[in-house]
Amino acid sequence: MSEEQREVYKGYIGPAIIDDEMPLRGASSILQNLDITPYDFTYLHPLIEDSYMEWLQECSQIEALKPFRWAVLSHDGAWLAGAEELRAYFAAGDDDAVAQALRYSKPVCSRSMERLGGQVICAVPLLSRVYGDLFAIMISVSPPDEPGKDRALLLTEPYALLYRANFYRRFEHLFVKDLEEVHVKAEREASRRSLLFQYVKRMHVQINVDSVITEAIESVLSLYPDVKVELYMSQDHESAHPLVRQLLLRHWQEEVFVRTFMEGKMTIHKQEDPDALVEVGIPMGGRQGVYGVFHLEAAPSVFSEMDLELLSMMADAAGTSFENAKLYEQSNLMIHELRMMNELTRRLNKSLHLVEIFKFANKELLSMLGADYCCILIYNAELDGLEVVSSNAEWMLKEVHDISYGLGGLVYRSKEALILADYEEERPAESRLMESTGSRSLVATPLLINGEVGGVVLLTHHKPHYFSYDSYRLLQALTSHIGLAIGNAFLHAEVRRMANRDMLTGLYARHYLDDLIQECQNRDVCGSLIVIDIDQFKQVNDTFGHQRGDNILKQVSGIVKSAIRHNDIPARWGGEELAVYLPGLGVMQAVRVAERIRSRVAEETDPRVTVSCGISEWSWTDEKVSVESLFYRADMALYEAKNGGRNRIVVEKSQTE
Ligand code: GH3
Ligand code: MG
Ligand code: MG
Repeated sequence: MSEEQREVYKGYIGPAIIDDEMPLRGASSILQNLDITPYDFTYLHPLIEDSYMEWLQECSQIEALKPFRWAVLSHDGAWLAGAEELRAYFAAGDDDAVAQALRYSKPVCSRSMERLGGQVICAVPLLSRVYGDLFAIMISVSPPDEPGKDRALLLTEPYALLYRANFYRRFEHLFVKDLEEVHVKAEREASRRSLLFQYVKRMHVQINVDSVITEAIESVLSLYPDVKVELYMSQDHESAHPLVRQLLLRHWQEEVFVRTFMEGKMTIHKQEDPDALVEVGIPMGGRQGVYGVFHLEAAPSVFSEMDLELLSMMADAAGTSFENAKLYEQSNLMIHELRMMNELTRRLNKSLHLVEIFKFANKELLSMLGADYCCILIYNAELDGLEVVSSNAEWMLKEVHDISYGLGGLVYRSKEALILADYEEERPAESRLMESTGSRSLVATPLLINGEVGGVVLLTHHKPHYFSYDSYRLLQALTSHIGLAIGNAFLHAEVRRMANRDMLTGLYARHYLDDLIQECQNRDVCGSLIVIDIDQFKQVNDTFGHQRGDNILKQVSGIVKSAIRHNDIPARWGGEELAVYLPGLGVMQAVRVAERIRSRVAEETDPRVTVSCGISEWSWTDEKVSVESLFYRADMALYEAKNGGRNRIVVEKSQTE
């Protein structure tokens, strides 16, 4: 074969003309210049075989080719395809024509060996179109005299070229298909990248925990409409989104999402049936931990490696944004709490009135912790029980419970806070508060008053799992302030009590008696006043000295106190003068009280003294009702008693007349 012929062979299609104005030609030129190389040869066999079958189909109708049988050998002369009866002969690999064609890369025609009965064999090397590498050999075998050696080669060569064209067509087709797949894949990848980018961008601007969750779920749903999505959130995070569930580790140890949460990495669960839905758990975590798990279910084909990678990246972005939003919310909450605390202490400190403090604390605790019911219990030493001093469960007000009873009692005794997630499941004690309010959650903490546990604060909610560690922390902080305020109010009350008492006798001071009588007169319909004066006290002092005098004063005071009812008010009115106001009693009953005092003083004091008493009364029918007139009239009666000889009782004039 001349060099010229060889060129024709090589450039069967010829190089393309590249024209910038027609970009499509550029693409076809790439295809035309595309060629196989010796590296590809071993992979070409199926392609060579397939194109041979196609070519054979095409040529089977051509009359001139009828006497021929055909075969294709590989670039190193091995059998690839062809008429079955030729296989054994060519597989032996000792044909001369083939050997020469391989060696010189030229078409060779010769007679076969005895084994093939001297038939004419044409071996035409197939050269690659750009580089001219021999990649296969086309063989034709024809009877010895028909059509003759020269003619055989003449016929074989063009059909070998036709075969090569077939081969290249298939090769290009394969390449284009590959290219298309790569292109589609690249496009999908690009669109995913852009989606992911948009998604991450949206995620990063979220400062609200709930919108992070909503955004994450909605994005997964819009990218994968065929996937069943749920988000299991750990912690005490509540979300309004219908696809968010609480991750309860205790109940579902076997579940995919629990495993994902525990191990902190993606878990894929495939059933034995290859068509069954596949479950995938993807952790949603940040730098500080895993907050939740995306639980996805779909047909196996949905979750390619690329999809899983994308979903995992989305979950990571969601986790980081969730963490940021959570931190942001927490710092906001902290600022809010500090503000509230400030306001609470300011308002608490303004009041020294216990009832007011209880009421205010109750209201603030409810609103700050978002609770349904609040109950403040204070230990009442006199009644030896926990008294409900404040609650919006009003039916419980003033109740006194034994310290061995209820959740309040439990907290009081243990001196430790308590969080109950669900009263229906966990019931460390019977609780009237929980029962009567139909509550499921509780947070309770001891109330420290002047450094000691003096009560308990309880808060409840009708939903289970309502209170979080944050609620507990906040409650602790708030109760410490409330405890301080209560302590202050207690101290203040004590100081006030002391200011209203007379130090020597322990009776009320006169100004306090005045106030109390005024209050009674505003409230009651009647009342009496007894004024008591020790007889000849000057002499007692002179005889026994002032100290004994003081002691006698104390003795008389003790007798007065023990001779009256619980709600009668005894006071030291002046030096050695005492007074008792008897709310709701008329003068006749007052006389009996005074008589009891008089006779007991005369009998029990040591050294013995006597007292004189003056009595006055008021009733709502009186024209003039005032403390002054009551005292004045009693004093006048006392004066009468002294004048009448002492150690006696005189009732005011108007009553006796
Ligand atoms: P009368 O029977 O008229 O009441 O005679 P009296 O001596 O008691 O007279 P009056 O009530 O006017 O006397 C008051 C005396 O009581 C004056 C004072 O010496 C004495 N006194 C007043 N307060 C105290 C006190 O706190 N301790 C003592 N030891 N003596 C007091
Ligand atoms: Mg006197
Ligand atoms: Mg006197």
